[in-house]
Amino acid sequence: MSGLVCPHCGQMVEIFPESHERRALLDDLPLLGRIPLDPVAVTNGDKGYPIVVSLVDSPVAKVFLEVATQIMQRVALLHAQATEGKAEQAPDDKEEDTHEREA
Ligand SMILES: [Zn+2]
Repeated sequence: MSGLVCPHCGQMVEIFPESHERRALLDDLPLLGRIPLDPVAVTNGDKGYPIVVSLVDSPVAKVFLEVATQIMQRVALLHAQATEGKAEQAPDDKEEDTHEREA
């Protein structure tokens, strides 16, 4: 959470001071997004309508969707890297097969 979307004018109001110490602890982690506080997101969620469904064009929903997109991209990258690792291990598997045939 980073701030509040004003229910009157829709402007973002930063309500938490940015702490350099806390920020430094998180510097090794990627910042996926800054989710604004929005009372509408809470009330819609409480009614069973996630903000990404009920108000898909709202600032909160856009951040959630951006975060989800980044997570999907990172998972896809990790999956690709894991798959490459398996492909590189394949020749070793073939060598083992060859040894079995020789024996
Ligand atoms: Zn306002």
